[in-house]
Amino acid sequence: MIDEIIKKSHKIVIKIGSSTLTNEDGFIDKDFIENLALQIKTLRDMGKQVVIVSSGARIAGVSTIGKWSRKEDIHYKQALCAIGQVELMDSYRRIFGNHNMHVAQILLTKEDLVSDNRTLNIRNTLFTLIDEGVVPIINENDTVCVEEIKIGDNDVLAAHSTVVWGGDLLILFSDIDGIYDKNPNENKDAKLIEKIDNIEELENSISMDSKSSFGTGGIPTKIKAAKIVSKYGTPMIVTRGKKENIITELAEGKVKATLFLA
Ligand code: ADP
Repeated sequence: MIDEIIKKSHKIVIKIGSSTLTNEDGFIDKDFIENLALQIKTLRDMGKQVVIVSSGARIAGVSTIGKWSRKEDIHYKQALCAIGQVELMDSYRRIFGNHNMHVAQILLTKEDLVSDNRTLNIRNTLFTLIDEGVVPIINENDTVCVEEIKIGDNDVLAAHSTVVWGGDLLILFSDIDGIYDKNPNENKDAKLIEKIDNIEELENSISMDSKSSFGTGGIPTKIKAAKIVSKYGTPMIVTRGKKENIITELAEGKVKATLFLA
């Protein structure tokens, strides 16, 4: 089923979690971005359009400046995001550039998504960039957002971005193969759920404790994202992003993941 959905989707949003984008030492994983660029090139050669939603600014900030990793002060967190966002985009720009692709940065806040006027501007800019062959890379504008006015998590930002752009598939790259009936990192007998068509039923039947140390969302925000796109009839896939050529592997039915069907 996932293979069919990928094959027939034309406008794909790929969200990349912090743990997918960085290596164990907290540095940006250049090999991952290299493989991502190749995959996106392949998708584009097939006539598909791609928008990226990328986390990782704060971790990139820590590894760049080499301090403040334990600072809880909001302004230090925001300062880290400001430093890291540059590093992040620099890595995307250089690596995608090697494959003759331009990238563009779009930083959004919650206010941008509730204002019709701003939403229309975002939509038109996305359309223009994509028409001109540029790969848009969206992130939350963490430097201006305090906790109370945050979109919250990039899973949710990716879902809203999919809706604004009119995407027909959302793929969440995570550090896990998909959604399990319980946390597989703590339960060896956890079973992968391959297809979900009733989100409420899922919420009541699985356990989703513990988050990874870098990721902020965990499974609840992935479910929230699925609820947002499902209102528009858009499917969502949760998959292990770091696996080489994961999108092709999924399209060829070689690996398993979780599909939320609208
Ligand atoms: P990312 O930021 O890469 O998207 P998250 O940390 O937000 O990753 O979410 C994935 C993590 O959620 C997994 O590494 C796992 O430890 C945890 N988790 C908890 N419950 C579940 C579950 N039922 N199925 C899958 N993962 C789960």
